[in-house]
Amino acid sequence: MERAVKSPLRKLNEGTQDLGKVIDLDGYKLPRKLKSLFKKIGQAADESGVNVYLVGGLPRDILLDQPNLDVDIVVEGDGVAFAKQFSRREGGQTKPHKQFQTAIVVLPKGLKIDVATARTERYKQPGALPVVKVSGIRNDLYRRDFTINSIAIQLNQRNYGKVVDYFGANQDLKAGIIRVLHQLSFVDDPMRTIRAVRFEQRYGFTIEKKTERLLRETIRAGLLNRVSSERIGKEITLILKEKNPLPAVKRLSELGILDAIHPEFRVDQHTEVLFSGLERILSSANLPRYFSRRVLYLLALLYPLSPQARKQVTQRLALSKKVRNCVTELEPLEDKIRFLENPDLKPSQVYFSLRGLSTEVLLFMATRARVPTRWVFLYLEKLKAAGTEISGEELKEMGIPSGPIFKNILDKVLAARLDGEVGSKQEELKLAEKIWRGENR
Ligand code: ATP
Repeated sequence: MERAVKSPLRKLNEGTQDLGKVIDLDGYKLPRKLKSLFKKIGQAADESGVNVYLVGGLPRDILLDQPNLDVDIVVEGDGVAFAKQFSRREGGQTKPHKQFQTAIVVLPKGLKIDVATARTERYKQPGALPVVKVSGIRNDLYRRDFTINSIAIQLNQRNYGKVVDYFGANQDLKAGIIRVLHQLSFVDDPMRTIRAVRFEQRYGFTIEKKTERLLRETIRAGLLNRVSSERIGKEITLILKEKNPLPAVKRLSELGILDAIHPEFRVDQHTEVLFSGLERILSSANLPRYFSRRVLYLLALLYPLSPQARKQVTQRLALSKKVRNCVTELEPLEDKIRFLENPDLKPSQVYFSLRGLSTEVLLFMATRARVPTRWVFLYLEKLKAAGTEISGEELKEMGIPSGPIFKNILDKVLAARLDGEVGSKQEELKLAEKIWRGENR
């Protein structure tokens, strides 16, 4: 028997229960492979005698007519056993997590399903991991962050497409409201403060008044400090992966969330100028193939901070080594920018000034009004891959003893090549010899 969920938040969440509504999943704009997967899951659930529901972001996005391919299902019963049975039936593979009573099913065509056992969660301390107990769908929906994410769609054949909405999700989806399910939601998991902003800004919704008050109280009480760096970093990264993250990071700043991460961390006019510079560069036709937009946005967020604060924020967000390296490259950037302001530089000067910088930092530089964008693109498109025809081998054959002198000579030959002063291997060899003789004099 499912334990009734007490609703201390009744005042907060006055949504009407919507338990009878059945939607025609076939009528929604969903890939055909998903529709047929839902039906197969429903059949398998009936055979196993368990109730199975679509949960998480997908039901929300189905009702909002937004694309989403993340299939999360909840089983009232043994989720892991159902995952194994379904996977066997469809010739897929299962990765069970017995401890969490969850499993991932990967089907032959690459479709992935996250399967969980319906459960309830109880938080002993703010930000701590919850104590989990097997339960029914109602409690499973109650443990979710916001009403709009507390909706389920049943997949069993007799109830196919039945919308399970105990907490007013439908109403809030229609009204465009982000609302927690109970007063202690942010205290239980302060990371939800960042998630609230992500959903609000993604859908152009509004964080409901009482929810915003609770959010601000949670931040003021310093509870975000109790969340692990990895989790905070992951949520901030997800915000930066959104299409246009500026309004969301502005909102994080306005709600005091960035300040709670580090007192220097905020979005001000300077940050906004950097973001609009980024949008300009990101709309260029000749962007390099491989780079990370979210790292670029992160650089724009961190650039106005002092080098020490940048380092502390990257630590607090447990950012990857690649990102940490990019952030380190920001340090000498002002000097480089000053150097590149000169419109009469030779290609070799541009090359040696930019050599070794990551693509993201290079693109970030190009957003700065003082830097001629063409230098950065010239480097990315041509200079970066340039090299000499001769190598250490030829220098050895010339009798030059190996050591740091090799790099010195090869760099000078490369500079001559980039500036069009030598054009063939023969000319490079001649130049190398001349440099060696000059060095030896
Ligand atoms: P997106 O569309 O960005 O992937 P999502 O809603 O699918 O968003 P996920 O982070 O994949 O978000 O989480 C899936 C579901 O799990 C959410 O819809 C929500 O119901 C629940 N959930 C995730 N994180 C939390 C959390 N911190 N607290 C409560 N519920 C959560």
